Amino acid sequence: MKMLRFRRNGEAQWGWLVGEAHVTPLRQLDGQPAGEVFPIGDVEVLPPADPSKIVCVGRNYSEHIKEMGNSFGEDLPKEPGLFLKAPNTLAASGAQIAYPSWSSELHYEGELAVVIGQTASKVAQEEALSYVLGYTNALDLTARDKQKTDLQWIRAKSADRFLPLGPLLETEMDPASTVVRTWVNDELRQEAGTEQMIFPVSQVVSYVSSFMTLEPGDVLLTGTPSGVGPLSRGDRVRVEVEGIGAPLEVTIV
Ligand code: MG
Repeated sequence: MKMLRFRRNGEAQWGWLVGEAHVTPLRQLDGQPAGEVFPIGDVEVLPPADPSKIVCVGRNYSEHIKEMGNSFGEDLPKEPGLFLKAPNTLAASGAQIAYPSWSSELHYEGELAVVIGQTASKVAQEEALSYVLGYTNALDLTARDKQKTDLQWIRAKSADRFLPLGPLLETEMDPASTVVRTWVNDELRQEAGTEQMIFPVSQVVSYVSSFMTLEPGDVLLTGTPSGVGPLSRGDRVRVEVEGIGAPLEVTIV
């Protein structure tokens, strides 16, 4: 099932994709359709999330750890290294994202994103995926220069519209056996199977829930593969996780 979030007549709501070009709104996030069906062209498609928080894994693919020069000696990280992005970062597919005036090193990081469907507190890894509503494409925009020099990553990671997300949420897929790809101006820059994650999605959900209650609509970013790099004004970025059904596309302006 493919879900999406959209605004119609000023009201943001969740819905299901019907066929390829229609949507039907849901009464509640986990509820049944209200019965109406609209052409997708008649609604504004929003990021498929309604988060109180966005929790991100910073280093989850060993090849990306190497390219960033992070050294763990002979060992990989023993626990997920986390940071937060704030809800102001959300942007929809198709958005134009302004290159920040205060950075000279804006990087793309294509990722698999997880949206939570039920309140999750202290859940076991074996049950963690049952708390997930679905999966979507994410672009974790990062001011790499400020990530290196600021005390914390608030500006580097949480500037306005630094998280394009969507457009669709796939509710039935195995997050451990898909592929994340990122293109810049139609050139493939990142490609990795999610089986390469150091911490699989089930472990990340369980780990975060061990100290922080995850609420419906919250987002987890699962880390980026190797191949990150700088963007310039005018670049078109596309992220597509296999199985989601539609790519995330934005332009840097
Ligand atoms: Mg990232």
